Amino acid sequence: MDRRALPLNSANLRRFRTALLSWYDQHGRDLPWRRDRDPYRVWVSEIMLQQTRVVAVLDHYARFMNRFPTVESLAAARETSVLAIWSGLGYYQRARRMHRAAKVIAREQGGNFPRTAEAWAELAGIGRYTAAAIASIAFGEAVAVVDGNVARVVERLLGLPMGREAVWTKAEALLEPERPGDFNQAMMELGATVCTPRAPQCLLCPVHGFCQSRGAEAARPQSPRKRKQLGYVLARKNSAILFVQRPADASLMAGMWELPAVLPSQVKGDGPWARLRHSITDTDYQVSVFAVSPDELHIFETDGRWLTRRQWERMPLTGLTRKVLRRSQLEPKANVAGPSRLLKKSDKQIPRRLEPPRNGKLKDLLRRD
Ligand code: SF4
Repeated sequence: MDRRALPLNSANLRRFRTALLSWYDQHGRDLPWRRDRDPYRVWVSEIMLQQTRVVAVLDHYARFMNRFPTVESLAAARETSVLAIWSGLGYYQRARRMHRAAKVIAREQGGNFPRTAEAWAELAGIGRYTAAAIASIAFGEAVAVVDGNVARVVERLLGLPMGREAVWTKAEALLEPERPGDFNQAMMELGATVCTPRAPQCLLCPVHGFCQSRGAEAARPQSPRKRKQLGYVLARKNSAILFVQRPADASLMAGMWELPAVLPSQVKGDGPWARLRHSITDTDYQVSVFAVSPDELHIFETDGRWLTRRQWERMPLTGLTRKVLRRSQLEPKANVAGPSRLLKKSDKQIPRRLEPPRNGKLKDLLRRD
């Protein structure tokens, strides 16, 4: 790669690479997908990690690998099964595209994985970053990766704000061609754990001596988070709960199952029976949950399905729906009006009502336009 893109001579570039890799060898986190270079495991982890924090991925990754240990098992699965395991990770198009790509690898390529970034980029759901990450980590191809962490590290190291294409050029120039997969992971690890967005720990940084900015540049302004309200109905009949399916052409979470929705602005009377918070990317949702008995469901004119716990646990539910159910202390034979508790102690900061609504009041409580 073109070393002239860097303000480092050859000796310093070698020292920089050695310092970063030694630090990574010693301090890199022991993550399950780093324990070998199996391309299937690397691929699954890279897709899950797109726009998702490591801590949120760990459990899902373990469950996913347990359920679909090979690309053949993933290719043979129904989409609903894949989405059910993915449930809670969000960005469900990732799972759909990975499922499509698995079918191509298993059925058209004889189970053989692509070996280069260029070939990986031909598959559904694989962009420039993901293709380079898999090819470098699993097959040792000397290609650099640039994600948000790497871009921040490169800009700070060189002390220059730069466009994304320029960052790719610099990252290619920094890359250690003998250990490209480890080098790429080391750059990402440095950005995730030391050279963090708001408070870089420069005194602990293994490449402090090569850095032009040493954390001096101002933190990038954060765009303010949006706030929205959502309302859902939790209706129980014996041991079943009512769910509805999102439209197949919905722009978000198409085809997934959730609790029936109601607009909080349409609600009158005593207020929600429970509340919780939910955050997705740049939006914080305040979620109100209303308990409803089956007799009162005609208010919603819903054509949902009653599902027992055994059934809904295998369904592709939205992450928010799982959150509401997880926080419910559901009892198999509890009566119709809803669970007796909905929130954990950690939600105590939100005012809440734990008693179910009084019989016969719900029509007054909920109004449809
Ligand atoms: S010295 Fe500071 S700013 Fe520079 S790369 Fe290290 S942590 Fe980031």
